[in-house]
Amino acid sequence: MKMLNISPSQQQQIRSAKPLLWLNPEYQNPAAAPDKPDTAEIYDAEARLLRFAPLLQQLFPELEASDGIIESPLLQADQLHQAISPFGVRTLIKADHTLPVAGSIKARGGIHEVLCFAEQLALEHDLIKDTNDDYRKLLFPDAKFLFNQYEIAVGSTGNLGLSIGIIGAALGFKATVHMSVDAKEWKKERLRKRGVQVVEHKADYGAAVAAGRAQADANPKSYFVDDENSPRLFMGYAVAALRLKRQLEEQNIPVDADHPLFVYLPAGVGGAPGGITFGLKALFGPHVHCFFAEPVQAPCMLLGMAGPAGSEPVDVYDFDLTINTEADGLAVGQASQWVCDAIRDELSGVYTCEDDTLYQHLLRLKQLEGLETEPSATIGCSGPSMLTSHEAQVWLNRHMSEKSLATSTHLVWTTGGSFVPESEYRTFLLKATEKFGSKIS
Ligand SMILES: *Cc1c(COP(=O)(O)O)cnc(C)c1O
Repeated sequence: MKMLNISPSQQQQIRSAKPLLWLNPEYQNPAAAPDKPDTAEIYDAEARLLRFAPLLQQLFPELEASDGIIESPLLQADQLHQAISPFGVRTLIKADHTLPVAGSIKARGGIHEVLCFAEQLALEHDLIKDTNDDYRKLLFPDAKFLFNQYEIAVGSTGNLGLSIGIIGAALGFKATVHMSVDAKEWKKERLRKRGVQVVEHKADYGAAVAAGRAQADANPKSYFVDDENSPRLFMGYAVAALRLKRQLEEQNIPVDADHPLFVYLPAGVGGAPGGITFGLKALFGPHVHCFFAEPVQAPCMLLGMAGPAGSEPVDVYDFDLTINTEADGLAVGQASQWVCDAIRDELSGVYTCEDDTLYQHLLRLKQLEGLETEPSATIGCSGPSMLTSHEAQVWLNRHMSEKSLATSTHLVWTTGGSFVPESEYRTFLLKATEKFGSKIS
């Protein structure tokens, strides 16, 4: 096996599917990340989303109030803070589980990538003169006619498929979603209702992506959204950092040496949390600490980040793990090498959690903050408690003063859930209540 920057005892813990915190030895070592993307691309992505905002506002009535911007609220979670955080002055929730249009964090990257392709086609075929033109022209029949000759395809555990399928079909593209075996039935159903072709695979996420990629390669009019390898997705996700910065300012929450910000991000293949980390580090530098969170059965980003730059990430099967987890959005066996290489010196660490813990958080989010999330989306709630080990304390002391830690802000990024059907959410909640308490009927 490849050299991994993981101690033998932690490797043993990973193998036996025990929760752990891994601190990134390459943090703040630029030599470990020779090929970083350009931060200017974050601003390009934001500008593109602004150009499309009037069009999105017409396509999706739920974007009326936000003038076509797909954004989620930043919530102060005081009750949750008491329950989960031994540190700092506040816990915030970045509520991407309510992101309009797609119901998950995938609305950011997924929609951005489809808009990149649509814009490129529209410019090539003179449907718009230039990037200052009125993009609502792309709702006219000649644009629909053009887009309908092209297919947009994607492989997904569910949420990326929802995001790509919804925007693809709305613009008039033929949309095909290759779903892995763990994708939920209701997600497939929702897509079929919108005229999206759903291809069901009996294998895992990586295999669904590979099948989708192969089919799309065979069709010159097919555009494949490659979750394992996509700067366009990544930069769409990174825009969240610009938006978060504005929200923090609006709420008068400082981020600086005296007020560090800790951000806990659920990670699958790495694109969404990686893009956000890239954006946040560009804006806040050493004052933000990003941690990824993964299920014990699918720590693919941990293994990817612990490998050397420019090498294919080790997959979780090499550690005798199964990727069986109820956190379907995080059930990924191998990380994106591209993402690992982009953030190798930026990520502070990765921790893992058991599925039961996710249910405990699901119940907390409901009882304490009135929020309904899917199990995948709750894993950030373990962040603060994962930083209480002796090793973590040593690390914290190295990066900030006692006083700064005491005035730190902790942000839990909730990534999906508002589209989960009521009956399905009831089932999650019932399971959580049976295990962890009965305050909720
Ligand atoms: C996809 C997803 C993530 C993680 O995003 P990746 O780009 O796969 O790392 C987190 N939470 C939910 C709910 C998701 O659907």
